[in-house]
Amino acid sequence: MARINANYNKLAAGYLFPEIARRTAEFVNANDGVEVMRLGIGDTTEPLTQAVLEGLHGSVDELSSPDTYSGYGDGEGKESLRKALADRYGERGAQLDETEVFISDGAKSDSANIQSLFSNDAVICVQDPAYPVYVDTNVIGGRTGDAVDGQYEGLVYLPCTEANGFVPEPPSEHVDLIYLCNPNNPTGAVATKSQLEAFVTYAREHKAVIFFDAAYSAYITDPELPKSIYELEGAETCAIELNSFSKDNGFTGLRLGWAVVPQALVAEDAEQGKLNTMWRRRQNTFFNGPANIVQDGALASLTPEGRRQSDEMVAYYKVNAKTIRDCLESIGLTVYGGSNAPYLWMKTPDGIDSWSFFDKLLSETHVVGTPGSGFGPSGEGFFRLSAFGHEEDIARAVQSIRDNLKL
Ligand SMILES: *Cc1c(COP(=O)(O)O)cnc(C)c1O
Repeated sequence: MARINANYNKLAAGYLFPEIARRTAEFVNANDGVEVMRLGIGDTTEPLTQAVLEGLHGSVDELSSPDTYSGYGDGEGKESLRKALADRYGERGAQLDETEVFISDGAKSDSANIQSLFSNDAVICVQDPAYPVYVDTNVIGGRTGDAVDGQYEGLVYLPCTEANGFVPEPPSEHVDLIYLCNPNNPTGAVATKSQLEAFVTYAREHKAVIFFDAAYSAYITDPELPKSIYELEGAETCAIELNSFSKDNGFTGLRLGWAVVPQALVAEDAEQGKLNTMWRRRQNTFFNGPANIVQDGALASLTPEGRRQSDEMVAYYKVNAKTIRDCLESIGLTVYGGSNAPYLWMKTPDGIDSWSFFDKLLSETHVVGTPGSGFGPSGEGFFRLSAFGHEEDIARAVQSIRDNLKL
């Protein structure tokens, strides 16, 4: 008789986005003809760059001829792409080579799968609020107890609050695996070099491993802020970095990301090289490598011209972020993030809870955002607004907030 993995029963219901959709549909049905404006999405909206399109087209053409056709590639991804990414880390002073870079179908898959390299009794630490994948995959993996008041027993949560600028200090107790998302989704906060240094120091002292999700690193334009954990001395011994072409090149639908598992990485029972070998084994066992066409598109995004065009795309969304931020501040709201990230983290007015503000914003302004409490208990009293959207749509949403939000 087949039995299920009962850890799935522990997962709190996928509450946030279905509930947003439900409340939005209810409002639209009750208010015939009203058009809602979305500042809630975490998905890109602008078309692919010319450089990427050329890379994709060229790759399609290669597949159309018997002389240039290719089938299965390396499970780790194309060597040329791994080399190009390793070289880009080199520009930031990190010494990595192509054997340490693994191409995947996205940073979501990698951030979900990476925990499988570690023991079942590993103590997990996450930021609160957090990208739900980090928590849910460890629930499924059996590393937590039940959820009590929105937090799982056995997990260590680091509250991200106004008082700490939404960048917590390392835990005060011992943990084994630490998930850091930087720039942060949902808060838009970015850690300084010394704040990251504290985590690297902690990890080295505790022989812990950091999973550093840098999916939004392209949004960092302040030269003082590290874009990669490997800009910190010693991080190659204690950190795995995850990244993606989704948010800076619009690959959310194409799907492509990468993980860096350094040869120097160690764990309590893993010498240098061991975790790199394990991840290679894992990817080759579970995965036949990402789509060749998509990898050629990504390769084109890393040429000087491709990078210039990608920077333009990021700059476009950053203008949106500034538009939203300026509006909210001009009407007296307190807002964080959005300077080196595509997300703004707004404090709800008069201390109302996140869902009440969702309803208020929707009914008064017809704008949809994301309640902060959906990302964890410390998100209560906050609200996430996203800079992904067409400029003219953002402008309309912002105008409606300015004109119609009752404060
Ligand atoms: C969007 C996002 C990713 C990227 O996911 P892909 O699977 O590469 O599209 C990773 N981490 C966070 C926190 C994100 O918000």
